[in-house]
Amino acid sequence: KVRVRFAPSPTGGLHLGGVRTALFNYLFARKHHGTFVLRVEDTDQNRFVEGAEEYIVNCLAWCGITPDESPNTPGNYGPYRQSERKPSYRKFAEQLISDGYAYYAFDTPEELDAKRKEVPNFQYGQATRMQMRNSLTLTISEVEDLLAAQTPHVIRIKVPEDENVHFNDLIRGDVSFETAIVDDKVLLKADGMPTYHLAVVVDDKAMEITHAFRGEEWLPSAPVHILLWKYLGWESDMPQWAHLPLILKPDGHGKLSKRDGDRLGFPVYAMNWTDPKTNDVTKGFKEMGFMPEAFINMLALLGWNDGTEKEIFTLAELEEKFSIERISKAGAKFDFEKAKWYNHEWIKQSSVDSLQLQVKNELEKAGFTATDDTFLNTVIDLIKDRCTLLPDFVMQSSYFFASPTVYDSASVKPKWTAEKATFFHDYANNLSLDNAIDAEAAFKAFAEEKGFKPGELMLPFRIMLVGGKFGPGVFDIAVLLGKEETKLRIENAIV
Ligand code: GLU
Repeated sequence: KVRVRFAPSPTGGLHLGGVRTALFNYLFARKHHGTFVLRVEDTDQNRFVEGAEEYIVNCLAWCGITPDESPNTPGNYGPYRQSERKPSYRKFAEQLISDGYAYYAFDTPEELDAKRKEVPNFQYGQATRMQMRNSLTLTISEVEDLLAAQTPHVIRIKVPEDENVHFNDLIRGDVSFETAIVDDKVLLKADGMPTYHLAVVVDDKAMEITHAFRGEEWLPSAPVHILLWKYLGWESDMPQWAHLPLILKPDGHGKLSKRDGDRLGFPVYAMNWTDPKTNDVTKGFKEMGFMPEAFINMLALLGWNDGTEKEIFTLAELEEKFSIERISKAGAKFDFEKAKWYNHEWIKQSSVDSLQLQVKNELEKAGFTATDDTFLNTVIDLIKDRCTLLPDFVMQSSYFFASPTVYDSASVKPKWTAEKATFFHDYANNLSLDNAIDAEAAFKAFAEEKGFKPGELMLPFRIMLVGGKFGPGVFDIAVLLGKEETKLRIENAIV
């Protein structure tokens, strides 16, 4: 039975890459009729940020990737916050010590700092551990005394010398590490909390996780985790690993970071994130006007495809098509223009009804009220192909809800004449607006009768109705506005 987990640390906003990790976990679970667990990895008290967990939960909800088990919807494997599992970790760290795979270390922060100053690139590990104050260098009774006196200490893994740790990664194939380059990571901290390394192994075991998808940035930690699975005697229960390719900066040089978004003017977070300390807001895709369906679709295709040219997928289609075999090893370049393309495609293919609520919200935010749903739906249908992001609906439709207050007169003035003004006065009194085709024919016939080329009157007419050089067909607009309103707008515009 497949069980996967998304295991974020509540340290701030949720980055694109984090959402994609959650998505791939979710898709894999759905595809195999398994369980998708949300586990909050909050053992690092220094990095804990108030509100970050709730924010992550909200982001997942917005994206439509709902966990089956989570802190708010617990299953049989709780608690789902590591801080609440604190008592379960120490015994495993101590078991590792008695089996000779870990040791107590009593070095104070000052001693460690001094060492780091003395030795450039100091690593606590096989080359240096015998120079430090730990249960490998102290006598048994010294260690017992220190422990009895409750001297602050950590527990470190004792990484073996000259071993090759290797495992099969579902995306990268056989991956191997020489233990000579791996340091003796802390497993249990002085405050009794486990570090990520111990907690991730103990919890993946306790929660019966079968497949662990996570970002490639965790690959260097994998040998420590593999050793722990082995040393704890759980090797046969170890999940299969899948390290997801990085999401790269648009130029392909390095991992995409929040700073790239700030610098290049696009969001990197799923939703707006407000830093509780500074109140600084980092922009998110949601607030920029992305549809969650488009956001998810775009993310899925960052590093995965179904083997065809198809790019537009619903979540249900992704659930059916997803396969690890089609995840690429290479990093995927993030392209904001492409992200917008996805949203545009999604707006185009969405039904008017499914867009209605989102458009209403956008209009309301901008101070317009759409009371008549039938009218709103007709408007949406008319303009949706011109909208890339949801706020574009406001720009493309506000003139349906309020007369223009400013006109792009510069586009009309040079060729404006008293004769044209007269034409529009007369036209306003002779409107026939039953449908766009007939309305256009009548307008043209009337223009010709009065000695104008219809072409020279179309732009002024548009500007009278909407204020500027934009929008769908001008007769579509006039028909929707209706006779009375069209007449009024013509008259208001030419005084
Ligand atoms: N807590 C880690 C993070 O914040 C999770 C890594 C993992 O999935 O093993 O990304």
